[in-house]
Amino acid sequence: MEPDQQHSPGFSSCWSETGFNLGSRLLVLKGEPSEIVIHCLKEWNINKLCFEFDTEPYYQALDDKIKSYASLVGIEIFSPVSHTLFNPAEIIQKNGGTPPLSYQSFIKVAGQPSWSSSCLSTSLSCLPPPGNLGSCTISEVPSLNDLGYEESEEQDERTPIRGGESEALRRLSESIADKDWVANFEKPKGDPSAFLKPATTVLSPYLKFGCLSPRYFYQCIQEVQKNVKRHTSPPVSLLGQLLWRDFFYTVAFGTPNFDKMRGNRICKQIPWDSNDELLAAWRDARTGFPWIDAIMVQLRKWGWMHHLARHCVACFLTRGDLYVHWEKGRDVFERLLVDSDWAINNGNWLWLSCSSFFYQYNRIYSPISFGKKYDPNGNYIRHFLPVLKDMPKEYIYEPWCAPLSIQTKAKCIIGKDYPKPVVSHDSASKECRRRLAEAYELNKKQNGTVSEEDLKKLRRKLEEDKIQESKSKRLKQKSIG
Ligand code: FAD
Repeated sequence: MEPDQQHSPGFSSCWSETGFNLGSRLLVLKGEPSEIVIHCLKEWNINKLCFEFDTEPYYQALDDKIKSYASLVGIEIFSPVSHTLFNPAEIIQKNGGTPPLSYQSFIKVAGQPSWSSSCLSTSLSCLPPPGNLGSCTISEVPSLNDLGYEESEEQDERTPIRGGESEALRRLSESIADKDWVANFEKPKGDPSAFLKPATTVLSPYLKFGCLSPRYFYQCIQEVQKNVKRHTSPPVSLLGQLLWRDFFYTVAFGTPNFDKMRGNRICKQIPWDSNDELLAAWRDARTGFPWIDAIMVQLRKWGWMHHLARHCVACFLTRGDLYVHWEKGRDVFERLLVDSDWAINNGNWLWLSCSSFFYQYNRIYSPISFGKKYDPNGNYIRHFLPVLKDMPKEYIYEPWCAPLSIQTKAKCIIGKDYPKPVVSHDSASKECRRRLAEAYELNKKQNGTVSEEDLKKLRRKLEEDKIQESKSKRLKQKSIG
């Protein structure tokens, strides 16, 4: 906000550290956001309000309320697009009114960002000081408890990811200092089990919270690429990762009900199960599959996991094994990720559940052999699931296969110290493929107009088929016996 007189309070959107250095400070106000902001606008006699344009529906609604108040009383608004590389509205317009639905078409429409070869300003000169705050009550920065998270004393491992702009810039310069690493970056080749030195930049939380500008990040990568002989390209390159971010922001902005299955025109309608027990086992790292459980522990402790690790657990929960609704998994990620981002999280859950963007539901990540490829000794599992630390490497991905003598020696009895698998991967994944095939068939037949009744019917049919199948299996076994 820009005050109209010297003693009105200035409002810094920067981190408090930066705000202090520039002669201002962060002001935390509690309450219903639009009411609070409108109250401050009146109280502080504001004549110009500056805020970053936001594409998320919740903030769009909030911004709309504030903008209509501002226009009513003649407050000037400055709300630039700067959280993304491109302006999502412009991309949608260039694409004929709807967002491009594939990465390749997105890149084609987007082209080069207009600012990519100009010098971005990286320094601020000053900010107006906070003046007389009137009747507005300034609160402390909320604690984890205030935000509804438990601050457990017993927590043995906390996230190594520290907040703030200085930390973001430190991490960025550490990443781009290794020019070969940037030039050869190929996302699918990264090791999802690397946790002492993660295989990617771990800059997502900083991008999410505005501690790092994606445009500055883009220019830094571009600078490295200019000075090397050869470099990788999108979608797998580091620059390509930032484009994925913009891709999801654009589709999310242009798709009503993007965060839901119902009413979302780009989402396949699938009669998912709502099995709370399986969901809880997945959420609480009790599936009995060490690779999956270790990832879920990393999520709870660090709030961050490698992209392919996220792939594995999201696929496992939905179309791979448990057949639980992707919205349920999305909610767990939303709460626990430190980089939790509305557009990116929903976009990737749609992708991984084969509800949108990606449709090869036959390609399922094995919760046993996928992690083994990268980490045959199971160091990642041993770290995040210490109960399995003494399990021999032959059994670390399938401890239920270990003979009892080995379980006893490893001080980990399966079914007592660590759970038995909640499903058999072979039969669960086969069943998931069958269900997805039927759901896809229904979507094709109904040409995108699947009703609640259609889904109910299909759910009933799938359940009946399952009962029939197990009956005939039993009969077959009896006749063999
Ligand atoms: P790097 O590989 O170093 O990439 C640099 C930046 O590019 C990232 O920080 C991120 O902003 C962007 N990026 C990379 N991959 C993707 C992608 N697939 N989609 C969109 N942007 C990408 N990322 C989030 O930031 N927030 C989320 O809430 C989120 N939820 C996810 C949920 C699921 C089910 C899956 C499979 C992925 C999710 N991702 C999410 C995407 C991705 O896993 C993370 O962005 C990435 O792992 C962050 O690590 P990094 O910063 O080291 O990535």
